[in-house]
Amino acid sequence: MPAIPFDNSYIDLGPDFHSRVAPEPVADPQLIRFNHELAAALGIDADALDTAEKAAIFSGNVIPEGAEPLAMVYAGHQFGGFSARLGDGRAILLGEVVADGQRFDIQLKGSGRTPYSRSGDGRAALGPVLREYILCEAMARLGVPTTRALAAVSTGEAVRREGMLPGGIITRVSRSFVRVGTFEYFAAIGNRDAVKKLADYVIARNYSDLGAADNPYEALLARVIDRQARLIARWMQIGFIHGVMNTDNMSIAGETIDYGPCAFMDGFDHNQVYSSIDREGRYAYGNQPPIGQWNLIRFAETLLPLLLTGDDSRAAVASAERLLNEFRDIYHAAWLDGMREKLGLATDAPDDAELVSDFLDLLDRDNADFTLAFRHLSSLGVEPSAQDETIASLFANRAEIDAWLARWRQRLCSEGSQDGERQQRMQAVNPLYIPRNHLVEAAIRAAEDHGDLKPFHQLCEVLQNPFETQPGREEYARPPKPEERVLQTFCGT
Ligand code: AMP
Ligand code: MG
Repeated sequence: MPAIPFDNSYIDLGPDFHSRVAPEPVADPQLIRFNHELAAALGIDADALDTAEKAAIFSGNVIPEGAEPLAMVYAGHQFGGFSARLGDGRAILLGEVVADGQRFDIQLKGSGRTPYSRSGDGRAALGPVLREYILCEAMARLGVPTTRALAAVSTGEAVRREGMLPGGIITRVSRSFVRVGTFEYFAAIGNRDAVKKLADYVIARNYSDLGAADNPYEALLARVIDRQARLIARWMQIGFIHGVMNTDNMSIAGETIDYGPCAFMDGFDHNQVYSSIDREGRYAYGNQPPIGQWNLIRFAETLLPLLLTGDDSRAAVASAERLLNEFRDIYHAAWLDGMREKLGLATDAPDDAELVSDFLDLLDRDNADFTLAFRHLSSLGVEPSAQDETIASLFANRAEIDAWLARWRQRLCSEGSQDGERQQRMQAVNPLYIPRNHLVEAAIRAAEDHGDLKPFHQLCEVLQNPFETQPGREEYARPPKPEERVLQTFCGT
């Protein structure tokens, strides 16, 4: 039995969809972190591989038995402009495994040049590798659909960015790396057969229940709209900013993918942007829902020929528009459901959306810490007490937050809310620990500048239990001091 039970399917779509290419070996691969729990869930026999073998495989120096490395081709709208050919310029799909009836891609990122590298070096710096590892695993623990991190290695080689930086490779796992941009690639070159083949592949692999629908392609569009609306609602509920929501970074399987200059907000600001390359704020926190819908319109356009029944193209457009218009309602309902949970509300009332947005407005006005505000709220009782100070201290205007708390309490009382039971529910959805930007940055600095990986490992450990108070780890819960604040994140490409 090979250590990784590969069972590959994407390769069978044929050479239009990929280029066969092997990873480029690196000088001195060292295993930084390996995700044993994930490996076990994927049916990987990690014990069969010693540390050096893991480092060799997850750097691409050794091709494991059963792997059939390839780079996927795709296009994409980047910051609104269309690039007809992008593709895996520094990633390589090693192959797929099937676990519990679910198929997963195993992909190296930073593994060298491919036919899609254009002027890039095919490599990743260690910093962005660590950032992606920390962020995607934190997201998984926060209950957000996401690609996972299986391994991180350092390469022993330097990469040229702003200066010279140590190189790294991350191994990512996804329910499928097919993107909106994959569909766009084939639609743009007018290859309808390939669009259909890809849609059939996605339906069979990710949404097999849709195979029996009257029009499976219309059902696929509806499902992807639904998944993305719910995904973005989850981002909004935890203060996550993706940073580069280009269509090539939007997953058809509905996962958060391609972690670049992404970040969690500290102080709440609807217009918050961290990414150094997002100068216009296209992918600002508050813009994520409309941009998600914009990307889905690009997806729908690629499916139009498949939505035709007979040759009534107007009917196809009308049905796509109808589905796209549902995005807002699906998003809003998912967002409101989650926000009700964050406020501890067990029932629905007509004014709930207003109660939520008034709280967010107060947070926004004072740039109050988003995560701590909800966490502190989770410990309050229905009767005002000295504990109110924990949340009130986050705000400049005491009278306004007091007035809001009174409304919230009234609402809780209207549904007979019990303190203990509600506090437990709220603490299970309002995290205490998130991958705060200054902590991520400090972990990266220690690794890149001093070869010290301890802060990275410690941060990963804390983030495995984001909802449980961890005594002695108070530092990980607090917002940055002014001098610690990180104002920009870099994608490192
Ligand atoms: P990203 O911003 O990481 O989503 O990448 C956008 C596109 O640029 C994708 O096609 C990547 O494969 C490609 N790319 C990014 N960085 C590099 C690099 N260092 N070398 C080659 N291609 C890259
Ligand atoms: Mg990308």
